[in-house]
Amino acid sequence: MIELVQIEKHFQGQAVVHPLSLSIKEGEFLTLLGPSGCGKTTILRMIAGFEQPTDGQVWLAGQNVTDVPASKRDLNLVFQHYALFPHMTVEDNIAFGLKMKKMPRAQIKERVDEAAQMTQLSALRDRFPHQLSGGQQQRVAIARAIANKPKVLLLDEPLGALDLQLRKNLQSELKHLQRTLGITFVYVTHDQEEAMMMSDRIVIMNNGKVEQIGTPREIYARPQTLFAATFVGENNIFSSPEGLIAVRPEKMVAQREPGAKKTGVIEDIQYLGSVHKLLVQLDGEPMKVTVALDISDERPWQIGEAVGVNWNDKDEVMIEP
Ligand code: ATP
Repeated sequence: MIELVQIEKHFQGQAVVHPLSLSIKEGEFLTLLGPSGCGKTTILRMIAGFEQPTDGQVWLAGQNVTDVPASKRDLNLVFQHYALFPHMTVEDNIAFGLKMKKMPRAQIKERVDEAAQMTQLSALRDRFPHQLSGGQQQRVAIARAIANKPKVLLLDEPLGALDLQLRKNLQSELKHLQRTLGITFVYVTHDQEEAMMMSDRIVIMNNGKVEQIGTPREIYARPQTLFAATFVGENNIFSSPEGLIAVRPEKMVAQREPGAKKTGVIEDIQYLGSVHKLLVQLDGEPMKVTVALDISDERPWQIGEAVGVNWNDKDEVMIEP
């Protein structure tokens, strides 16, 4: 559906997106994940046509659209700061793009009904934006985009302005919507949990470069680089003669018996509900290790206690620095 061929972007001679090639399948939920300033939005804007690549090509549905203006590309955008028309009702906001396209009235009604229902706005269609919560306003922006039935929906931190609980609800709703509609989603976020829970595939970006592309499962189980290993979930990083290795905290066990791979002293204990985490100073190195614990433990660990930290060799992942 989308083919990026060695696209790159320079601003004032400075590379903000290094050459990137990527194929996004029809109906796929693909997320660009990375810290602020890593180039995610710039990639999205190149797909949309708001930004011309310095080099490379953008293909949409088998057509080279590199020189096609944004308005002629069969896609829609949803931003963090959804620009709803304040003087229009929810219904008119959703219908706006369809009216601009001069779609017949009956068909507009059908599309608006469907989009409002899918985004749970049917009861609110006569309200004005100032009478809606932030989450409801963002639903209107999403409804307006899907009413157009685009082949591709580009979403730039669409839930970024919402509080945590609302964000979690809308994450599930959006994912469900995407599955139901079969629209290709390209989603930008800096929130690794959000990326993990919604995406079919994730592109991890850092400093304008791709660190890793994979399914959430692949990225969690087999991070390839130090950045990927520490940006998505937690990892303990060790140097070994062969290079760097990463071990997930939940793959580690704390033991009092001798024979552990590492020994250290507990510096702090974090209680996180179903697990506790031990922060351990290892072998005098200023390294902290988190260890998931069994909460039914009869002799709980204490701060200052000596501890052995062990794990299976098979849970070590070799990573690039
Ligand atoms: P955020 O999550 O903060 O939105 P991002 O990963 O989306 O970040 P981009 O918005 O793509 O990052 O920006 C990437 C880099 O390019 C940043 O360093 C930014 O300052 C720079 N940049 C973006 N647009 C321009 C521009 N028009 N002129 C000059 N530099 C720009």
